Amino acid sequence: MIKELIDKLYKNNYLNKDELAYIIANKEDEVIKYASTKAAEVRQKYYGNKVFMRGLIEFTSYCKNDCIYCGIRRSNSNAERYRLTAEQILKCCEIGYNLGYRTYVLQGGEDPFYTDDKIIEIVSDIKRLYPECAITLSIGEKSYESYKKYYVAGADRYLLRHETANEEHYAKLHPKELSLRNRKECLFNLKKIGYQVGAGFMVESPYQTPENLAEDLLFMKELQPEMIGLGPFIPQKDTPFRDKKQGSLQTTVLMLALTRLMFPKVLLPATTALGTIHPLGREMGIKAGANVVMPNLSPTDVRAKYSLYDNKICTGDEAAECRNCIERRINSAGFEVDPSRGDNIEWKRK
Ligand code: SAH
Repeated sequence: MIKELIDKLYKNNYLNKDELAYIIANKEDEVIKYASTKAAEVRQKYYGNKVFMRGLIEFTSYCKNDCIYCGIRRSNSNAERYRLTAEQILKCCEIGYNLGYRTYVLQGGEDPFYTDDKIIEIVSDIKRLYPECAITLSIGEKSYESYKKYYVAGADRYLLRHETANEEHYAKLHPKELSLRNRKECLFNLKKIGYQVGAGFMVESPYQTPENLAEDLLFMKELQPEMIGLGPFIPQKDTPFRDKKQGSLQTTVLMLALTRLMFPKVLLPATTALGTIHPLGREMGIKAGANVVMPNLSPTDVRAKYSLYDNKICTGDEAAECRNCIERRINSAGFEVDPSRGDNIEWKRK
C-alpha cells in the first residue's frame, strides 16, 4: 500500500494530503529506504551525481523577532550578538571564491542595523567583484519594494522558509506579531520579482503532525519554489522549547525523499541541522535526493554565536577545512562536487 503510494508520487509528482500524511504517519525503515531509492533516481535524472556548494555567511546574530524555537530570538539575553562589517563580508566572499564557491548566501536575523541601503551596497559590491557568482539573501520578511531593490542590485535568490503552512501550528511557533499570511505573501512577492525562491520547514518541530507536513508539501506545490530547505527541529537551551523533542533522522530523510519526488528539479540542501543530529546525516540526505550543501564561510570567531540550535557542527573549523571536509563527505557518499553556481535548471533572470 505505502509502496504503491510512493510509486504514484514518483509517477505524478503529486499526492493528496491524506496520502502524504499516511506515508508520513507510517514510516517504517523499509518505507524510508524505498522512498529514498526512488528519490535518488529522480535526482540522478536531472542533476546526475553532482552536489552544489553554497558558501554560507552568517553576518548578524541580532534579531528583532522572537520566534519561539530560535536561539537568536530577541528575548534570549544569553545570545551573544555580533555583526559583520561590509569589509568582513567581502573578505568571506574572497576566501570563498578562492575555495571555488560561486554562490554566497548571506543569512542573518532580522537586524534593522542593515538598512536597505546597506544591503544594497553589500550586494552590489559582491556583484562588482564577482560578477559570475550568485548571491542568495536570507534576511527575513521585508516589503515588496525592499525585495525589489535587492534584486535590482544583483541578488539572485532568496531563502525564506515558510516554517509551517498551517495557521494554528504557525501560531504555536511564533509570537503573535508574526503571521503565516505575511510570510506567504513575502514568498509570492519574491517569486513575482523573479528571484529563485527557497521555502521550507523544520521537521518535527513542536506540535507538528503528519498532516502539517503534508500541508507543507502541498503549500509548496502552489508556490513552486526553486529551492526547498528542510532540516530537523533541534532544541536550543535558552528558548522556551528547550525541553522539546528533537526532530528525528528518519523523518527528515523521509521528508527529503518525498520532497524530491514531488519537486523533481528543486535545489534541495542536506542541511547543517541534519549533520548535527547524526554524524552522517548530510550523506544520508544526499542519498535520499538532496543535491546542495552549504559549507560555512563565516569567520571562526563568530560561528558559535550564530546559535539557532544546540550542538551546531563545524563551529570551530576554518573555511578551508569545511571545504575539504564537505568534499570528502560528498565523495565518500558516491557523489561529486559541482563547482558551478548551480542555478535551478528552469530559472532565467528577468
Ligand atoms: N531570519 C531569517 C533566517 C532565519 S535562520 C529568516 O527569517 O528567514 C534560518 C532557519 O533556521 C529558519 O528559517 C529556521 O527554519 C531554522 N531554525 C531556527 N531555529 C531552529 C531550531 N531550533 N532548530 C532547527 N532549525 C532552526
